[in-house]
Amino acid sequence: MLSDPAAAAWVAAGRPAVNAPAPVDGRCGRCGEDGPTVTSSRIISEKFTGFDAWPFGSRRLCVACAWAYSRPPSAVPAMLITTTTVTEYPKGVGLASVLTSGALPNTQAVVLPTSHRRHILATAQWGHLATDGLVTVWDAAAASRLSELATVRPAVTAWVRARTTQSMSGRQIALDIDRMLLREMPPYPLLATQPREAWPRFLAAWTALQPWRMVAPLWAAAKILTTTPPAGGT
Ligand SMILES: [Zn+2]
Repeated sequence: MLSDPAAAAWVAAGRPAVNAPAPVDGRCGRCGEDGPTVTSSRIISEKFTGFDAWPFGSRRLCVACAWAYSRPPSAVPAMLITTTTVTEYPKGVGLASVLTSGALPNTQAVVLPTSHRRHILATAQWGHLATDGLVTVWDAAAASRLSELATVRPAVTAWVRARTTQSMSGRQIALDIDRMLLREMPPYPLLATQPREAWPRFLAAWTALQPWRMVAPLWAAAKILTTTPPAGGT
C-alpha cells in the first residue's frame, strides 16, 4: 500500500534514485515510512522552513519523499496523481474539468503550484488539492464552487474588457478582473450584462464564492484553474 501521493508519483516515475549517499534503514521524518532513508540535509537546504510540518521527528527522508523534495519547484507542473499514474497539466490547463466534475476520491490527489517556489508535491494528500500554502479536501462543495467561478468569470472578463482603454496592459486588465471577482456583490452594470432571467442564478454563483474570497491560496489556485490561456498558448 502506497503511503501517499508523493510516493505514488515516485513509483510512477520509475523509482528514480536521488543524489545522496546510499540509503540506510530508518524512518522517514515526513511520511513515517520505515525503510531505506537518506539524510535530509543532502536533499534540502538547512534554510528550509517546513521541518515543523514533518510529524515523525527525524531529519531523514525515505527515497520517495527525498525525490519529491529534490525536484525543483519551478519544474513541477500541475498534476493529477492516482495510485498508479501521474497526469501532468502544464499551467493547470485542463485540470478544471477534473476538479469541477466532483469530489476527488481517496485514490486521487491534485497538485497545483501557483508560485512554483514551494515544495508542494511532498504535501499532496489523497482526496485533496495541494497548492502553495494550503492542502484542502476536494469535496463536492469545492467542485461546485469552482464551477460557479467558471460561470461568472467570463461575464466579468467580457465586462472589464469592454471598459478598458487601449493603453491598458494585459496585466492591468487581469488585475481589474480579479479585483472585480473579489467583490462581495457584482456591480449593477455588470449584472445588467446578463439576461434578466439569469440574474438569480448569477447572483447565487457570485455569493457562493464568498468563502473562497477569504482564503488567498485557494483563490490564487482557483484563478489559475479558471483562466483561459491565450489562444494557441499552452
Ligand atoms: Zn517519506
